[in-house]
Amino acid sequence: MLRAARYVLPIVLFVAVIVSGQTGTSSAPPVSSPGNAQQARPFDIDAAVNAYLAKMPPAQRARSDAYFEGGYWLMLWDFLSTILVMWLMLHFRWSARMRNLAERITRFRPLQTVIYWIQFAIVFSVLTFPLTVYEGYFREHKYGLLNQTFGPWMRDQLVGLAVGLVLGAILVVPLFGLVRRLGSNWWVWGAALMILFLAFVSLIAPVYIAPLFNQYKKLEDSKIKDPILSMARANGIPATDVYEFDASRQSNRVSANVSGFANTLRISLNDNLLQRCTLPEIETTMGHEMGHYVLNHSYKGLVMFGVVIVIGFAFLNWGIGFALARWEEKWEIRGVTDVAVLPLAMIVFSTYLFLMTPVTNTITRDMEYEADMYGLNSARQPDGEANVDLMLGEYRKLDPGPLEEFLFYDHPSGRTRITAAMRWKAEHPESESAEEVAKPVFKTE
Ligand SMILES: [Zn+2]
Repeated sequence: MLRAARYVLPIVLFVAVIVSGQTGTSSAPPVSSPGNAQQARPFDIDAAVNAYLAKMPPAQRARSDAYFEGGYWLMLWDFLSTILVMWLMLHFRWSARMRNLAERITRFRPLQTVIYWIQFAIVFSVLTFPLTVYEGYFREHKYGLLNQTFGPWMRDQLVGLAVGLVLGAILVVPLFGLVRRLGSNWWVWGAALMILFLAFVSLIAPVYIAPLFNQYKKLEDSKIKDPILSMARANGIPATDVYEFDASRQSNRVSANVSGFANTLRISLNDNLLQRCTLPEIETTMGHEMGHYVLNHSYKGLVMFGVVIVIGFAFLNWGIGFALARWEEKWEIRGVTDVAVLPLAMIVFSTYLFLMTPVTNTITRDMEYEADMYGLNSARQPDGEANVDLMLGEYRKLDPGPLEEFLFYDHPSGRTRITAAMRWKAEHPESESAEEVAKPVFKTE
C-alpha cells in the first residue's frame, strides 16, 4: 500500500519529459564565483544563481542527474511490477486460495480479513524484493547515498514490513466492514475512512513509527537550539524543544522535517544537517520547516489529498465493477465484499495514483515552495538557503526543464529554490553573507 503512493506518471508523458529534461541538463552554468556576481550593482539574479549552481563540480552534477533521472524509470518499474504481481495473484487464483485458507482458520470475518492481508502483504513483498533490493540497496550504494551494510538495511526493511502489516490491517478490516454494510455507496465512506487513516498515520508516525528507524533526542547545543527557539517564538510556534535524529545511520543526506500534527507535531533536524551546515544554513532550513507549521500544511495537505482520494475511490468503484463483470468467476472472487478482491483493487488504485502523480507532486511542491518563501522571510539568510539547496542537489537533479519539474518533482528543483533565494537577496542587499557566498559546499574532485 505504501509503495503505491510513490508511483509516477504514464509512459506517454514520460517520453515527453525525458526530451524536455535534456534542455535542463545541457545548459551549463557560466564559470564564475558567486562573489563576482555581487560586486556589480544592480544585483544580477541569474548570474548569482548560475554561480551557485557552478559550485557543484561537473562530475558530481552528472552523477546526481543520472541518479535522479534513473528514478523516473524506477517509478515506472515499481508501478509495473506491482501490476504484474497483482495480476499473478488473480490469474493463478492465489488470492482466492489465501481467502480460503483464512476462512478455514476462523469463522470471524474481521480476523479472516487480517489473515488474508498478512498473506497478501508477504507475497507482495517477497515477489517485489529483487526490485526493492536493487532500488533501495545496490543502487543507493552505487551512487554513494547509503551508509548501511546489508544487515542493518535488511533489518529496516523487515521493520517496515511489520509496520505495513499492522497499519494495513488497521485500514483493511474497517474498509471491508464498510463495503459489506453499505453496498454500492461503499466508495464514498471508504474514501472518508482512507482520509481518516492518513490523518491517523501522520498523527502517530513521529511518536511511534519514526523511532523504529532512527534515534530521536532533544537538541542540547544552545548555540543552535537558542536561535531556533527564538525564531519559533517570533513565529508564534509553541515549541519548547527541537529534535535531532541519527539519519547518518542510513545516509549522508541532509534533511529536516515537521511531522505529525495536533499535539504530536514536532520539528526535527538530522545529524547530517547539524554536522555539515553553518548556523545561517540551519536557520533557513528551520525557517522553512516552521513555514509548514504556520501555514497549516498538514491540514491543507490532508484536504487536497482528500479530494484526490475521493476521486480515486470513485474510479476504484468503477474499475472493480468493470473487471468483476468479466472475470469474477475465472478469478473465483465473490464480488466486491470478498477480501480476495484486494489485488484487483490495488491494480485499479495504483494505476490511478500513477496517473495522478503530477497532481500529487504539484500539491506537495507548491507547499514546499511556500515554505521556502516563509523560510527566506523568517531566517533572512538567502545565501545560507542557496547552499542548503545545493546540498539537496546531491540526490535531486539541480537544473531540470520546466515540464520535467512539473511532472516529477515533489519539491522545487535546486535552480527554482536558489532563484527564489537570489530574488529575495536582490531586494535585501544587507542580507548578503560573504562567508556563505565563498563557502565551498562540495569537496572538489
Ligand atoms: Zn518542506
